[in-house]
Amino acid sequence: MSKKKKNYKITIPVARPWLGRTERRYVAQALASGWISSRGGFIDKFEARFAGFCGVKYASSVCNGTVALHLALVALGIGPGDEVIVPSLSFIATANAVAYTGATPVFADIDSRNWCLDPSKIEAKITKRTKAVIPVHLYGHPAEMKPIMKLAGRYGLFVVEDAAEAHGAEVEGRMVGGIGDIGTFSFFGNKILTTGEGGMVVTNNRRLAEKMNILKNHGMDSRKKYWHPVIGYNYRMTNLQAAVGLAQLEKAGKILAERDLIRRRYDERLKNIPGITLPPAETWSRSVCWLYSILVGNKRVRDGLLSLLRDNGIESRPFFFPMETMPPYRENERCAVSARISARGINLPSAVGLTDREIEKICAIIVNYVGRG
Ligand SMILES: *Cc1c(COP(=O)(O)O)cnc(C)c1O
Repeated sequence: MSKKKKNYKITIPVARPWLGRTERRYVAQALASGWISSRGGFIDKFEARFAGFCGVKYASSVCNGTVALHLALVALGIGPGDEVIVPSLSFIATANAVAYTGATPVFADIDSRNWCLDPSKIEAKITKRTKAVIPVHLYGHPAEMKPIMKLAGRYGLFVVEDAAEAHGAEVEGRMVGGIGDIGTFSFFGNKILTTGEGGMVVTNNRRLAEKMNILKNHGMDSRKKYWHPVIGYNYRMTNLQAAVGLAQLEKAGKILAERDLIRRRYDERLKNIPGITLPPAETWSRSVCWLYSILVGNKRVRDGLLSLLRDNGIESRPFFFPMETMPPYRENERCAVSARISARGINLPSAVGLTDREIEKICAIIVNYVGRG
């Protein structure tokens, strides 16, 4: 006899989009206008406003965060035979986008203090083939951009920031995404700002901006209709998605403030508990709370906690796996810090709307469990 699988009802999800009247009004306007594909007023407004949000000259919308990375790499001329350095710990799309170009992702270890690409681990991975590096601002905390930019400058590497999880985060007063040659964002349903599915590429370089605009639109010459000097893609966002995005962007300050509050409540309750490491907060950074993330003592405690939370109707997630351990990218050389942090990490519910009582309930379960070892 097989044991019946228990049917857990999730009452507190890890993430939930915060949609309101303005989103509905703008989508209704887009529908009424008839502009439901990739042209229309909301696209232009969303892109202009997002450029302002990031403090960059150019922003171009695309249909998701994965193609944003691919588009950026293609625009930089990266292709077969090239190598691109990526952090071991990220969502798989960071490495996949490199693979789509025909280039090889090369995995470098992360910094134990901020869980992002460790600048001191990059140099050993640079070869004659290395063309670019992709720092990822993981779980809302920025990568250490200053030494990364310096190193990239010294070796002539392009820098693409994967800011899919960090809308609004800053490094020494500069918004992430606008520091490297190109920054990419995702607006998936669980991200800080959402359009359902969607993404954005940002840059201060006019030539790169023009190149990405052509590539995402079937490679069509911007002045000569149906003339295609290069092989492009259809990576465009729709005006309906941009309508949602504009509404989200108009309340971005409020979303970030609400998430800061959630993080502070968790921090208050979980600080000074032996066996719990709080999310990073480097002095040179302003991080944002995408998914409130902690480390516990070891993998056994982490996995126990995941299932105990689920038994209580609380959704949580394990950290990503080190990417070099997965079948398409299997490498013998493993990233030790990434492996250690990956096994001990857990993402907790972080949606706007999460109540103090819910946070208290989640923390009580965690503190009690970790306390028992
Ligand atoms: C979500 C995410 C992506 C991919 O974005 P999609 O919009 O889901 O394609 C890329 N990189 C990181 C780090 C992400 O978290």
